[in-house]
Amino acid sequence: MSLHFKPWHWQQICIHAELVYPEECCGLLLGQRDTMGNPQLEVVWPTHNTWDNVQQVDLAAIAGEERTGARSRNFAIAPVDLLQAQRIARGQSWDILGIYHSHPDYPAQPSDFDRAIAWEQYLYLIVSVRDGQIERGRMWQLDLTRTFQELDLNIIQSPT
Ligand SMILES: [Zn+2]
Repeated sequence: MSLHFKPWHWQQICIHAELVYPEECCGLLLGQRDTMGNPQLEVVWPTHNTWDNVQQVDLAAIAGEERTGARSRNFAIAPVDLLQAQRIARGQSWDILGIYHSHPDYPAQPSDFDRAIAWEQYLYLIVSVRDGQIERGRMWQLDLTRTFQELDLNIIQSPT
């Protein structure tokens, strides 16, 4: 299974990630699933990173991690942003397919904390940003043992 990104979807994520560097960006991937269950991305939905180091450090401790650097090493999507995206998606008969976020000066692989807060039904796109420039994107999904498996990331070069 893979998720196809139109060029403008991919550009939107890259711009968002570079804009908020050196903080992590985050957002939602909205779309539909075909009869085979394959996800089809319709809209990239940027959200604010509302990570609050004081309030959320306990959450990080659950993942057994020392969290430093606040929003440069963590992200949190505000419930109000999530609800708004859900409302938009429902109105279009879409679902939230997944979540994207960036890793400033860090590889595009999930951290232990990413794994701790991940949901099995979501796709996770992580983009690494080096010195303010997009480095690469990698797509992940949890398997039944809650281990992240990498999926193909297809960026369609010509609009279809
Ligand atoms: Zn992460």
